[in-house]
Amino acid sequence: MNDQNVTRQTFDEVMVPVFAPASFVPDRGVGSRVWDTQGKDYIDFAGGIAVTALGHAHPELLKVLHDQGAKLWHIGNGYTNEPVLRLAKRLEELTFADRAFFANSGAEANEAALKLARRVAFERFGAEKDEIISFTQSFHGRTFFTVSVGGQPKYSEGFGPVPAGIRHLPYNDIDAARAAIGPKTCAVIVEPVQGEGGVIPADPAFLKALREACDQHNALLIFDEVQTGVGRTGFFYAYEDTGVTPDVLTTAKALGNGFPIGAMLTTKELAAHFKVGVHGTTYGGNPLATAIALKVVELVSDPKLLEGVRARSEALKATLAKINERFGIFSDVRGKGLLIGVELTDAYKGRAKDFVTAAGKHGVIMLMAGPDVLRFAPSLIIPLDDMNEGLARFEKAIEEVVGVTALAK
Ligand SMILES: *Cc1c(COP(=O)(O)O)cnc(C)c1O
Repeated sequence: MNDQNVTRQTFDEVMVPVFAPASFVPDRGVGSRVWDTQGKDYIDFAGGIAVTALGHAHPELLKVLHDQGAKLWHIGNGYTNEPVLRLAKRLEELTFADRAFFANSGAEANEAALKLARRVAFERFGAEKDEIISFTQSFHGRTFFTVSVGGQPKYSEGFGPVPAGIRHLPYNDIDAARAAIGPKTCAVIVEPVQGEGGVIPADPAFLKALREACDQHNALLIFDEVQTGVGRTGFFYAYEDTGVTPDVLTTAKALGNGFPIGAMLTTKELAAHFKVGVHGTTYGGNPLATAIALKVVELVSDPKLLEGVRARSEALKATLAKINERFGIFSDVRGKGLLIGVELTDAYKGRAKDFVTAAGKHGVIMLMAGPDVLRFAPSLIIPLDDMNEGLARFEKAIEEVVGVTALAK
């Protein structure tokens, strides 16, 4: 087959069918605009699932990609490199953490965090302290350990025996958490805002209760900030605005703005339980990924940028409320910063995908978060004009789905 001759149809002929991509094929992007192979333009409200926080083809990131790409891509972990050390230093300046482990994805960052928690409990308290507590509807990645810890059984069923010592509790249920966290608990892993599970923010009191129960029972509190991290909620990490500090934080998605990288951040005392050879990775921490992430961190940690996220959040929510005055199809608009979920009313339950498909037709790239929730995770620096144009196109998509075309605004 000729290289030039690939279309969306080719996907079904050559790819393992775990995804069901849209009918159009994106080809290039600048900022919050994307063009498909037919030249049609889209406003990007998805950011590759909260990944391209600085939009597409950001000039400063391109420069780092080119410069570091010409210098050194990869050297292996038998040697260290300057970009990885600078990135670790910067992340530690910005957070509670004083040690970092780099991987290539969110799942791998969580895998490291969960293995660290098991190892800490094993070495400090013995083999019986092995229970990991997580929450229903949570999402922590697709490796077999992380998917088993995740709270969506459909993702871990049908692959043989699930790793033991994992318990799922209802999210935001303080009493259930207090009752379950005990001497056997080695870690509690929680998303400050459940992303895949429907964009559900944690109650600050719930996180505080988790912190107290973990302290009481010598369990580690792991914040999975793979989706909420790197400016997404209007704070560099979401924990900063919760009054709760975790023992371990995992971060990925926006950290590389699309260049694969993940990290586990923790304290010096806990990190000491991962001795030489106890855990590892081939690519993790390579100079190309970490040089790019260092630039992302520099740009996103700017207080002005974070302020801009909060301002855009208000504007986005206000427009969504206005759209809903016209259609009455959203039962809830929630989330933090530029991670916003819109829950559909009963009449449209299960139809998020129809809205996403219609949005594509009208030139907007959208996300869902489960069958009933539309999710907005645009670039943190999306120009207001693009945002408004995208929302106008989204409104057209809604008209199509609900079957109104000629209603006066
Ligand atoms: C996306 C996501 C992951 C998994 O990250 P990958 O890079 O796909 O492995 C883990 N946790 C949360 C909260 C996520 O949103």
